Parts: sequence; C-alpha cells; structure tokens
Amino acid sequence: MRIDASALRENLAAVRASVGPDAGLVPMVKADAYGLGMESAWRALVSEDPWGWGVATVEEGAALREAGAERPVVVFSPPGLHELPAAAAADLTVTVSHVRALEALAELGRKGRAPAFHLEVDTGMGRAGFDWRRRAEWAPRALEAHGAGAPWTGCFTHLHSADEGPETVARQWARFQETLDALPRPDGPFLRHVLNSPGAFRAPEHALDLVRPGIFLYGGRIGAGLPEPRPVASVHARVVHLRDAGEGDTLGYGATHVAQGPERWATVGLGYGDGLPRALGNRGHALVGGRRVPIVGRISMDVTVVDISSVPSVSLGDVVTFLGSDGGERITVDEVAERVGTISYEILTGFTPRLPRIWEEGSHGA
Ligand SMILES: *Cc1c(COP(=O)(O)O)cnc(C)c1O
Repeated sequence: MRIDASALRENLAAVRASVGPDAGLVPMVKADAYGLGMESAWRALVSEDPWGWGVATVEEGAALREAGAERPVVVFSPPGLHELPAAAAADLTVTVSHVRALEALAELGRKGRAPAFHLEVDTGMGRAGFDWRRRAEWAPRALEAHGAGAPWTGCFTHLHSADEGPETVARQWARFQETLDALPRPDGPFLRHVLNSPGAFRAPEHALDLVRPGIFLYGGRIGAGLPEPRPVASVHARVVHLRDAGEGDTLGYGATHVAQGPERWATVGLGYGDGLPRALGNRGHALVGGRRVPIVGRISMDVTVVDISSVPSVSLGDVVTFLGSDGGERITVDEVAERVGTISYEILTGFTPRLPRIWEEGSHGA
C-alpha cells in the first residue's frame, strides 16, 4: 500500500477551507488511521496545525502519546470504567455517555486522578450518548463530576446521515442546540462539536468549536453532490506466475472460472489475507499495463488471478494495481466498496498488517 502524505494534508486543508479558520480540526486517526497507519498519519498532518486528534480507544490514545503526540487526544468510544485511570495517565480526554461513568470520574477526581471529559449527546445516532430529552437527569451529574475534579471540557453529538442529505442534519442540529441552550456550563474551556466528514461540507455553518473529519482525509467519498477527496492510498502487487489456459481449463478453489477458449492468466501476490475482499472474485477488476482487467476465479488467501488476455505484454514481476491508478485508468476505494456491497471505511480498515504501508510525498500525482 502506497500512501500519499501530501494528498492527506490537502484533504485536511479542504476541510479547513470549508469550515473556516475558527473551528479547530480533530483528524480522526482511529483504527490505525482507517488502516493507513496512525503514527504516520499523525506525522503527516501535524504541520497542518490541528487542534488535536480523535481516536476510538484508550489504547489507541496511549499509543499516539507514546509516538510523541502532544496535542489533545480525544477517545470517542465510551471507555470501560476500568480504563479511566489509564486515560488520565496518558492525558487523554474521554467521552462519556453514561451516568455510571460520571460517577467513576467524580470518584477519580476526588483522588486527583481523573481525565478530562467531553459529554456525548444522543440526538438520533442511538449507539452512544445521553438522551437529549433527558438532560435534567444527566446534566447535574456531569457538573458534579466537574466539581469533584474531572474537568468537563466539551459536549458533542454525532450525525447519522450527513452523507445522504440535509434533513436529518437539521433535525439533529436543532436537538443539539436545544440541549446546549439549556445546559449548565462548567467554568473553564468548553468545546462544542458536531461535524464529521460529510457534515463539514454539507453544513459547515454548524462547525462550532471543533470538527472531526475521518474518511474524507483518507480518500473516501462523502456523498452525492459533495466534494471529492484527493485519492490517498493505492494497493499494488506483482505478477508471480503466468499461465496460458485453453478451453475447459479450470481456475482456483471451487473451479468457479472455466476458460471458454484461449486465455492468459496472471497470478498476483495479493489475496484476502492482505485484506483484498474475497467477494471481488469473478467480480472485481485490477489494472495492469494501463488497462482494466477482470479478476477471475475465487480470490485465495495469498494470491489473486487476473485475465490478461487483452494485455499480452504482461510479464513476471509486473505491477498490478487493485486500488489506485495506472495510465488513464483508476480504481477508487468507493468502486471496490460498491462492488462488494460495503463502504470505503470497511475496505480501508480491512487491509491487514501483512501489506506494507509505504508513506510517500506526492506519489499519486496532481
Ligand atoms: C469516526 C468518527 C468520526 C469521523 O467520521 P467520518 O465519517 O469518517 O468523517 C467523527 N466523529 C466520531 C464520533 C467518530 O466516531
């Protein structure tokens, strides 16, 4: 996998241009920066002067600190209560969705060992956050934790459908505003945030204090009518075997491909063990010699076969592209995702550690 650090920076700059200079940027580098490499992503983006970093787990946050990150690090999945001391030790800001967590924070606060926290408000996502209608129950408990020494430094909500259209964004925004208006404010800094990647372009007027872009930075599309990111990651492997097949010859596990006449097959050193979706078998494409060729047969753990009958010049050791461009042809991560019925996020995070991540400056061209 080759990763273009300058394209990553340009995508973050595009988010900045959309939301304006006053909102702080929190690049989401969770899940190993969507599979591309968290530490490298941090190094590539720090010059863009983000406010801080977004991760999902306390472990990810601690790893980022260990790598040398100095700015605020916010852990966005609800942490286990037993993880709160580790979060404090690594100077992470946790996010809180439950009264039990507020109680645990207050208890740690009294011992001087509590992390700061942002409170998540559930305005329709449902998977985490305090119910926006029931703030009378949770808001006093958050203030209590703050008073006990666990700094309450922010409040946020998460949009569920900003990629699909503006209606639900408006509804969630109204609920969040109603919550903020009625909320008692702790003393000290208090940061409000709502926008993910599609939100940052769909509704930049809702940027408030911080924005939290993820997939757009890494080259994933964010919805019809919204800007296209620069491609960031590409995946290539070499031809390790060539075969001239004749009518009736079978290919791969299950012999799901049978040559209908003379065909030329190239075996490439990349399989589902590297994270190439197995569902691309007999369905996906690759690029070689500037041409688009079909993947034939089932994808194996370690190799994939492409039909190069239309590109007879291919030889052993040639580079085949499964994601990215070759000549005038390009395969985007969204094309791959659509072909196998999923989203770009799952394709990118699915690439396994066996696939080396090679970070470069400007490798994917203008
Ligand atoms: C992952 C995540 C984001 C980023 O979402 P994208 O759709 O990748 O931009 C933002 N906020 C929270 C809370 C998240 O978990």
